[in-house]
Amino acid sequence: MYPDRVVSGMRPTGSMHLGHYHGALANWIKMQAEQPCLFFVADWHALTTHYDDPSVIERSTWDMLVDWLAAGIDPSQATLFIQSRVPEHAELHLLLSMATPLGWLERVPTYKDQIDNLANKDLATYGFLGYPLLQAADVLIYRASEVPVGEDQVPHIEMMREIARRFNYLYGKEKGFEEKAQEAVKKLGSKRARLYNDLRTQFQQDGDAEALEQAKAMLDDAHSLSMVDRERLFGYLEGSRKLILVEPQAKLTAAARLPGLDGRKMSKSYGNAIALREEKDVVTKKIRTMPTDPARVRRSDPGEPARCPVWQFHQVYSDGPTQEWVVKGCQSAGIGCIECKQPVIDAIIREQEPMHERAQPYLDDPSLVRAIVADGNDVARKLAQETMRDVREAMGLAYF
Ligand code: SF4
Repeated sequence: MYPDRVVSGMRPTGSMHLGHYHGALANWIKMQAEQPCLFFVADWHALTTHYDDPSVIERSTWDMLVDWLAAGIDPSQATLFIQSRVPEHAELHLLLSMATPLGWLERVPTYKDQIDNLANKDLATYGFLGYPLLQAADVLIYRASEVPVGEDQVPHIEMMREIARRFNYLYGKEKGFEEKAQEAVKKLGSKRARLYNDLRTQFQQDGDAEALEQAKAMLDDAHSLSMVDRERLFGYLEGSRKLILVEPQAKLTAAARLPGLDGRKMSKSYGNAIALREEKDVVTKKIRTMPTDPARVRRSDPGEPARCPVWQFHQVYSDGPTQEWVVKGCQSAGIGCIECKQPVIDAIIREQEPMHERAQPYLDDPSLVRAIVADGNDVARKLAQETMRDVREAMGLAYF
């Protein structure tokens, strides 16, 4: 099978804040040490909603990359690149669009929600309807095994899987496939060929999923096979098609939800955000002026943390004993709100200190960021071109 790979992107439509950090970036940082990761700036996606004012995109792209590096994304572990610098994404998007039923796009749950949420923008465009398909191309082009997503994005991954399946069904038919697959089986050597055939029969006749996994593991270890033969044998296990595109799995992320300063979703447009690289005194001022439980009019009035957005910050930033101190102190009016907010202020400043330090060299010399991205673009492009070679060949477009 193709190597395990994680792909994920973010739209550059404004500066990054702590909601992004706790909702996605912290998870990326964890994943980059565990398996190969490709993280990209989804500038074409930003255009689907900001086509009338693209000026924010270029500036946000570079700011966002500095934010990623500041947060701890390590270019020696993960590949960082810009979507539009790998034009193969657009080519695959176009080719997939030929065979994707319109109804699949219209049914994506977030499509109608987004149109309602962004009622001030005219989103009745071809680009906006097609963005889940562009997302599918972004992932399928790297034959990604996993995509980190929240619950609301799972239907998008389901659609990507359907698109990959349909593509393989339509274009994975290879002339003489059966014969070529049987030739490839022989190359496994007599013992392993027998085992492969037995496992294939067990899966195809009895639906034995364990046999399928065992056969796949055996193919993973069959280093003597060429990549093409290996993919034929993966396809032959399950049917009579070559697997050209890989169906990715949704990797559900258990991300901490950090709300905005007023308890709503953190968003720069709501004016309730703390930037990823906020200055210390601004952090202090923003937290000190946060609304609290309205029941605590006077210092002597008891309150209830469940009604207070500061408590949600404690749930992300404070340890057990501090949380206990907050609950007891709030409900008994033993502590005041300013006192209660101080551990949150300290924790955010502590969290952001290394981010400021890591960002500084890139702010002093922006060519460092450009060099990292240029390298990442090259790596991503090479992988994308490998897939496109197979896609073009399968669709009868490999002219030379
Ligand atoms: S004591 Fe803390 S949890 Fe209670 S209302 Fe004040 S800030 Fe909120």
